[in-house]
Amino acid sequence: MNTIQTGFVPLTREEYDKLGRLLAGLLRTKHTPVIIPGEAILGIEAIAASIAAPGRKFLNIVTGPYGTLFGEWLERGGAEVEELRVPFDEVVTAEAVEAAIERSKPQAISFVHAEVVTGGSNPAAAILEAARRHDLITVIDSVSAVGGEELPIDEWGADLVAIGAQKALGGPNGVSAVAVSPRGWDYIASNERAPRSSILSLLDLKPPGEGEAFRVPPYIPTLEARALIAALEAVAAEGLERVIRRHEAAAEATAAGLRALGLEGWQRDASRRSTLTTTVRIGGEERLKIEQPIGIVAPGDGELRGQLLRVNHFGANASRVGVETAIKTLAGLLQIDAAQAIEAVRAAWEARL
Ligand SMILES: *Cc1c(COP(=O)(O)O)cnc(C)c1O
Repeated sequence: MNTIQTGFVPLTREEYDKLGRLLAGLLRTKHTPVIIPGEAILGIEAIAASIAAPGRKFLNIVTGPYGTLFGEWLERGGAEVEELRVPFDEVVTAEAVEAAIERSKPQAISFVHAEVVTGGSNPAAAILEAARRHDLITVIDSVSAVGGEELPIDEWGADLVAIGAQKALGGPNGVSAVAVSPRGWDYIASNERAPRSSILSLLDLKPPGEGEAFRVPPYIPTLEARALIAALEAVAAEGLERVIRRHEAAAEATAAGLRALGLEGWQRDASRRSTLTTTVRIGGEERLKIEQPIGIVAPGDGELRGQLLRVNHFGANASRVGVETAIKTLAGLLQIDAAQAIEAVRAAWEARL
């Protein structure tokens, strides 16, 4: 970690450019992402504000609470929103998305890539392929996927992608990013309603082109931006592939531990589970109905409280020790011996890493 110097110097152009390069490398895009002066949800709201307008029709896929919110923001901007919603213990299929596209004929499609709240991961590559066949603008909330799954933005042809560093990347939550394709910028620029001189304005934050005069926006939080640079350098030093593999190992080891404890995953399709959180079905098991988080074992959010537990094995907790501790916590709640489950965790972890 860099130490923060006293004698405060606002974010320099060099630091700003470096952060842009690190973000572009992380997201495998040649277009410098927008640095968002706040947490990821601000970037997501800024996307909605920048693209929504009367006469624009969106297909919004809802597989968790953030999808609902995004749809509301699109409607607030006057857009027509068709919703494709699935029960929260499932993810959407590319076939269902394609059928919905054919039915509602939208200009753009939006979805949450992976959901830490429900523990599901949507088939992003296949959804984007379907969207490309219909020439749609694509919007993805990848806050809980980046660092836990592949996210090759240019290869996928994704147009607007929101990310944050505080989940898998072990970074700060006070500054985040939105990647925008040239087509995405055109879609924003052609929207009369796209905000200007506003905290929700992506246009105000658009990174400069080659040789273009540019002043680093003074409202980008300096300390958070420096912390994000440090976090992205740490990810690059470990290797993004390795970071992703660590999250996959954590998810598999957690699944193995749960099986040994006789517990069931909340997400029905085991092949579509998030690599950042594993959700545990509570069923009628009163002993799993906790009020407060115990380490990385947390009660369900909102309407999911009492239905599932979350095991938040992301960032620094995507580790063997992190998973073992969570499995011991669950065994403790069930008042059963953890030894066999810990052995299962160890075997699954070692098979993967
Ligand atoms: C965490 C999360 C967000 C919000 O991120 P903040 O930085 O807390 O604003 C948005 N979308 C998804 C899918 C998330 O998991």
